[in-house]
Amino acid sequence: MREGWARDRIPSYNLNPGRETPWAIVTFDVEMDAPPYMSGWRGVDEGLSAILEVLDEKGVKATFFTLGLLAVRKPRAIKAILDPGHEIGSHGFDHRRLDRLPLREAIHNIGLSLKLLRDYYDVVSFRAPNLKLPPSLIPALRLQGVKVDSSISWYKPPFKIAPLIEYGILRVPASYPSSVLRLPWRILKTLFKPGLDYVILLHPWEVVDLKCGSRPDLTVGVGGRVLGNLSALIDHLRSYGYMFKTMRELLASS
Ligand SMILES: [Zn+2]
Repeated sequence: MREGWARDRIPSYNLNPGRETPWAIVTFDVEMDAPPYMSGWRGVDEGLSAILEVLDEKGVKATFFTLGLLAVRKPRAIKAILDPGHEIGSHGFDHRRLDRLPLREAIHNIGLSLKLLRDYYDVVSFRAPNLKLPPSLIPALRLQGVKVDSSISWYKPPFKIAPLIEYGILRVPASYPSSVLRLPWRILKTLFKPGLDYVILLHPWEVVDLKCGSRPDLTVGVGGRVLGNLSALIDHLRSYGYMFKTMRELLASS
């Protein structure tokens, strides 16, 4: 893949030219519950094991973009992710938005998360909180050994629809906001057209009922439906010949 990859200009997400097997990457942003609105860890404490069970049942290895803070607060969760062979990437240290921090502080935040997570795993993948990564931080990511970044999407600026390489880093867009996995299956499946490549994004807190009645966007559809949809989506894509990869596997094959 080269800088400004031509597919970037095709107005259809990750259009697969037909000569490669289509791929999908299942990713989770592992963080406190629904930041910045809540600060509990029920997603990690109760949801993570249910997610790992589904992935195990389906034989899928996923990428978990994990806060560095988790290494301090929930080191057992990191081991639970790594034991079955999943990939750990960084989601920053504490979910503060990198575009709202002074540059030096943002670089420190990323570096701290990498330092903590690399005690467990050779981290090369990154996704910024809220998919907000100022371009000025991309060279800093590279200097810190990050090789693949998934902080872009078609639904948030700068509106990228296909993988590209910037400053030597492979940037891979998330396909949809995580909330689409809460839609009824009959609607959800129409969003995943066979032949295109997909990066599925979810959070452990979405598979538990947060009982956050005042925030329907954090309540409606969360819990069992998300897990059922994830399971059905994996089967659906497999039936069309999809290969499931992790971010670092995509990097190795690009
Ligand atoms: Zn996040």
